[in-house]
Amino acid sequence: MQDNRHAAAIERSLGLSGRFAPSPTGPLHMGSLVAALASYCDIKQRGGRWFLRIDDIDPARMDHEAIEHIAQALTVHGLVADGPQRQQSQFNSRYRRALRELIGECFYCRCSRRELRDHKIYPGYCRANQEKQSNHAVRIRADRRRRSFTDALRGTCDFLPEEEFGDLVIWRKEDLVTYHLATACDDSMDYSHVLRGDDLFAMTAPQVFIMAKLGLSPPQYAHIPVLTFADGTKLSKQTHAPGLDNTQPEANIRAALDFLGQAPPNAQFTVNQWIHWAVTHWHLKAVPSQLKPYVADDLA
Ligand code: GLU
Repeated sequence: MQDNRHAAAIERSLGLSGRFAPSPTGPLHMGSLVAALASYCDIKQRGGRWFLRIDDIDPARMDHEAIEHIAQALTVHGLVADGPQRQQSQFNSRYRRALRELIGECFYCRCSRRELRDHKIYPGYCRANQEKQSNHAVRIRADRRRRSFTDALRGTCDFLPEEEFGDLVIWRKEDLVTYHLATACDDSMDYSHVLRGDDLFAMTAPQVFIMAKLGLSPPQYAHIPVLTFADGTKLSKQTHAPGLDNTQPEANIRAALDFLGQAPPNAQFTVNQWIHWAVTHWHLKAVPSQLKPYVADDLA
């Protein structure tokens, strides 16, 4: 991990950077635009760089067309990355190095989902298993050390690994990196700021724990509320959120800013003017603690 740490230090010394990190499961919807725009405005207003990272580590959930759609929709909406698109699948050697570094703190787990279904936290059945077998997941042992991270909206958040999430799977039995390990590596090494939806807030403590075990420091976090339908369900592919209409990016951006509590004017701006307005006026603390619900036909 030494090289990576060095690279991360260089990256950070070069300046601030943030990211939007969708999983390529389908086209972007208004909820994704809200998250992408917020992460963009937040880092740009600080003078930092913004990147698109495609979280494509799960081949079973991959939709290759979605990658193109996502990149295109972001471009149409004026959210242009400050460098080539990153894909987690390109970083496998980074994740394997991290696994090697952590292996002394891990054990091999052969428990099935069914065996664990009544346990909120892993009950430790395989903790003594140090024998590698190809179809075993790898879990890292949780400890009893209180740790913390900072969230720009929630302040200092501390957690106790053993009580809050237990022994995390960091490598799947299918020989694939898990979301937690991949995200811990990338967020710590490549970005100074991570602004994302608060549906991922519970993921932060596990990821910060893994960063700590790797000797890496966490980015600065901000978790903003996610966009929901009137019944409180989150916009997603599963809840049939309509894809963004790329023919009306100006109205979409204005609507996203409105959801984000940024009080956008009733102006006839071009996409670039909207993005400029959004970055200039971005105010994280103005994001409401609950966004007004999304109604499909009610843009702008
Ligand atoms: N790829 C994850 C998702 O789309 C988000 C990753 C993150 O922001 O940490 O849910």
